[in-house]
Amino acid sequence: MATSAPFRIVHTVCSHDCPDSCAVLVTVNEEGRAVKVEGDPSQPVTRGFLCGKVAKYLDRVYAPDRILYPLRRKSGAPKGPLQRGSEHESFERVSWDEALDAIAERLTQISENYGPESILPYSYAGTIGVLGYGSMDRRFFHRMGASQLDRTICSEAGGQAWNLVYGKKYGTPTEDVRLARLVLAWGANIHGNNIHLWPFVEEARHKGARLIVIDPYRTRTAAVADWHIAIRPGTDAALALGMMRVILDEGLEDRAYISEMTHGFERLAERAREYTPERVAAWTGMTAADIEQLAREYATTRPAMLRLNYGVQRSENGGTAVRAIAMLPALTGAWKHRGGGGQLSTSGAFQWNKQALERPDLALASPIGRLARVVNMSELGRALTELGSHAEDGPAVKALFVYNSNPGAVAPNHNAVCRGMMRDDLFTVVHEQFFTDTTDYADYILPATTFLEHTDVQGAYGHYFVQLSKQAIKPPGEARPNAWLFGQLAQRMGFTEACFRDTPEEMIRQALAIGADGHSKNANMEHVTMEDLEREGHIPLAFYSDPEKRPFLPYTSGSVPTPSGKVEFFSETLAAAGQDGLPGFHPSVESRWNERATKYPLELLARKSDNYMNSTFANLPGHRKMEARTSHRIEMHPTDAESRGVVEGELVRVFNDRGSLELTAMLNASLPAGVVAARLDWAKLSPGGANINALTSERLTDIGRGATFYSTLVEVAKA
Ligand code: SF4
Repeated sequence: MATSAPFRIVHTVCSHDCPDSCAVLVTVNEEGRAVKVEGDPSQPVTRGFLCGKVAKYLDRVYAPDRILYPLRRKSGAPKGPLQRGSEHESFERVSWDEALDAIAERLTQISENYGPESILPYSYAGTIGVLGYGSMDRRFFHRMGASQLDRTICSEAGGQAWNLVYGKKYGTPTEDVRLARLVLAWGANIHGNNIHLWPFVEEARHKGARLIVIDPYRTRTAAVADWHIAIRPGTDAALALGMMRVILDEGLEDRAYISEMTHGFERLAERAREYTPERVAAWTGMTAADIEQLAREYATTRPAMLRLNYGVQRSENGGTAVRAIAMLPALTGAWKHRGGGGQLSTSGAFQWNKQALERPDLALASPIGRLARVVNMSELGRALTELGSHAEDGPAVKALFVYNSNPGAVAPNHNAVCRGMMRDDLFTVVHEQFFTDTTDYADYILPATTFLEHTDVQGAYGHYFVQLSKQAIKPPGEARPNAWLFGQLAQRMGFTEACFRDTPEEMIRQALAIGADGHSKNANMEHVTMEDLEREGHIPLAFYSDPEKRPFLPYTSGSVPTPSGKVEFFSETLAAAGQDGLPGFHPSVESRWNERATKYPLELLARKSDNYMNSTFANLPGHRKMEARTSHRIEMHPTDAESRGVVEGELVRVFNDRGSLELTAMLNASLPAGVVAARLDWAKLSPGGANINALTSERLTDIGRGATFYSTLVEVAKA
């Protein structure tokens, strides 16, 4: 990257959990301080701009309240929620050596006394850099024999569902969306959290394309759509099947594509016949005429692009919903038209060498000599309060090691999670950048780096570029990256394997499987060398090296990586496991269709904020200001408010059997009646110290055992 003293410009990559994985140019002055961040204009998806969350990133990097040194809970300081700003009173600064020695000693004791599976790592996508997300940490926990974490909280239901149909997560290239004539954004708030797709949508619209948004909530994207369909939460599978019925009734399917590329069409057609527009209308809250119009418009417009995002899959039947929706472009042959098709994620195209990075073989050297039990992160409350009560469970969790995540805010069933983290016999370590809802329960807090402060390599789930994120600045204070932390701990625990001394550069070469000829051995990356990556910063995957001459049209030729080699409308795998091989609609237990609704009749949309990344950024004043309009509000349809005698601006109690919180009523006629919406915030920044996850459950999705944040029944009453 160009260097012009006294400033350096360094190519980094935003590692927040976002499909766009932006190439970020960081300007560093001669004192080594970052003075500017901007989107790289040469990256074809970033195109020179950053979202509102990261445009002000230096506020985060240089925040006065960043954790800069290892901290130990003071003797006698109780665990539990701390007043914002007072956290330092409960902790004392220690050196890295003291902290690492003490943590290694305690983990060793716990492993010896209760078995290594009593140690539970908890991490997710606080960083999605390949090294930061999962490398030295996985080696460390495998070698120790710690419980394995099933990382299901965000995308597993949708990802597995997509793969049941297509085998791997490929999608229409983001840049090709400019060619679409119809963009169907299904549970996709493009403008809010996939902003680099938006200019391509706009370009398509300038040329006459229509934007249709299906979302129970009137998001920023829905507000500017040509047609916003405010579907009832959790009924998406019914709508997809209803659309299929109309498409098939009217002969709008693509028979040539179906016969060449798909498996199980006749059985799907039979199933779809059950979903008349009238039946589907009763579930979804739409009219039969709207269902027919939507199906016709989708099936007859070329190219038609389906942008499906992960919100759809966070309900009890969310996996099946994604599976059904994902079948639509195969039914209509939309994949054949450049700019059409669909995208849930492009992550399947990035085949990192995970064996080398994560070293699951190290489990054989652990005290248990095998891969450890698996604990589902979407059931953390249960894991911390119930595991170990039956012999077959294995041991209770005695140590929790949190990094890249803030379960005190984001995990479902918040009250159970907090009860678990309050346990005096639980040893908790948190690697973090700020005091959060989770650090309030920590025995040790270790300072973590931001993406400006370490080196990593990254793919994306919204484009097809491999990118190198170079360290731009020295970490402030004594902040250290994950890979360093777990390498140091491993050595203190006596793990002598050479892999625990690998440098980030060595691990990047391993992730890329760089061979003796200097080229990557990973599929789709064979042309990538470290030298090119250093020089260019971002390199397209092999199949995407010349999209104008060789457009990428996924799932249109050859074999599809499913068991049948075809796009699967019917899954023999599911059928063999005794499950339904076809998609079908089953109302959620926590929905208006269940008798529970007599006690808790309102369906809660536990939303994410546009200007935070789950819970990340919620502590920064500038970001909070951008979200002020809906802060601590419960949005209600006027009829639901009126029937409860609630008026705009009134304090109300929102509750169910799991918890209760006080929020301010905000009337919103764009919500479906019977649906209320509130957004995620930190519990410690919320009135009464509770956030919406006090209401959500640990019930799991039908596919992928994911979290069901959007299947939550509540009642609202005057406070
Ligand atoms: S959060 Fe997303 S849009 Fe914003 S800078 Fe990061 S990758 Fe880009």
